[in-house]
Amino acid sequence: AKRLIELGGAYVCTCSKEEIGRNRAAGTRCACASRPAEEQLELWERMLAGDFEEGEAVLRLKTDIKHPNPSVRDWIAFRVIDTERHPHPLVGSKYVAWPTYNFACAIDDHLMGITHILRGAEHEINTLKQKYIYEYFGWTYPTAIHFGRLGIEGAILSKSKIREGIRAGLYTGYDDIRLATLRALRRRGILPEAIRELMMHVGIKASTARISLENLYSTNRKYLEAKANRYMFVPHPLKLKLRTGSSELIARIPRHPSYPERGVRELKLAAPSGYCEVYVPQDDVAHLPTGSELRLLGLANIKLLNLSTAEVVNLDVDYARTKKLPIIQWAPAEEAVPAVVLMVKEGTLVEVKGVAEPGVTELKTSEHAQLYRFGFAILEDRHSFRFVYTHA
Ligand SMILES: [Zn+2]
Repeated sequence: AKRLIELGGAYVCTCSKEEIGRNRAAGTRCACASRPAEEQLELWERMLAGDFEEGEAVLRLKTDIKHPNPSVRDWIAFRVIDTERHPHPLVGSKYVAWPTYNFACAIDDHLMGITHILRGAEHEINTLKQKYIYEYFGWTYPTAIHFGRLGIEGAILSKSKIREGIRAGLYTGYDDIRLATLRALRRRGILPEAIRELMMHVGIKASTARISLENLYSTNRKYLEAKANRYMFVPHPLKLKLRTGSSELIARIPRHPSYPERGVRELKLAAPSGYCEVYVPQDDVAHLPTGSELRLLGLANIKLLNLSTAEVVNLDVDYARTKKLPIIQWAPAEEAVPAVVLMVKEGTLVEVKGVAEPGVTELKTSEHAQLYRFGFAILEDRHSFRFVYTHA
């Protein structure tokens, strides 16, 4: 700072805060700047010695007093802090004159031999301010690269808002699936690969980039499609009594249609007296007229006799194809596993209750699954079979 004063690059200003603001707005330099160098140095020594109270004197850098951005105009490099009232955490009240952020950064970068500065676009103005110091000293300014923020459309990413929301009980935590924090995205089953791919695709640029949720989902789906095996979850289950015409029904459900090597799950339905029971999604069946035919995935084609009974027509897949029967998921009533899927509906957390086929018991915690006709989900709790919904 002393060297800067000697070079004529800085001066001690004893104007009030209000005067500094007025002069800045008007683009005029105050009389303090025209004091002779010896006087400036003396005032500076007095600043260091603690002769001035907080706000009575500052050291200002001579920049462009007409700069279009008023904050650049002779910005403040040092100020007096009342360290009796605000002691420094390490040195207490030993010093009273303190450098501002921009002064400290500029000098530190030089002393540490920094060659490249990477920082957010909001620092662009600071780069401009700090360059004045480098010019006075004849130093070369490091290469500065500014990048924009990456946001997700429609998501609250402001850290202060999230913190407030958690404190107020609006969110359950940083991993509340209504948020777009990394923890929330991970909890929902958004894969790191998908986030990385999108970031690489967006690249580093100075402008703020926004990723749409649709884009995030479709990228994630690409990875999940191969990863997640298929299981049947029946939301809002309705119990159907099935007249089988045989003593046993067997469904063979491939874990993944594109990866036959992952094997087939066998679901056996015993029908000792020619009847067995299954759960089906109420929303798919309740509105159908008596006599409607549909196919239970991997099991059989059935005909509804009423809202609680149906009969097996045959087992033939081609029959269902030819007649374009709706194919729905189901769970054997006896072995059904109570399950729940946590999801966001219109901004609110919703727990969709239902039952799952017993095959889900082979899933491990945090394993991804594709629930037939429901969407991708991740198993969060293996004891209560709570899934978190990822996306369709
Ligand atoms: Zn002044």
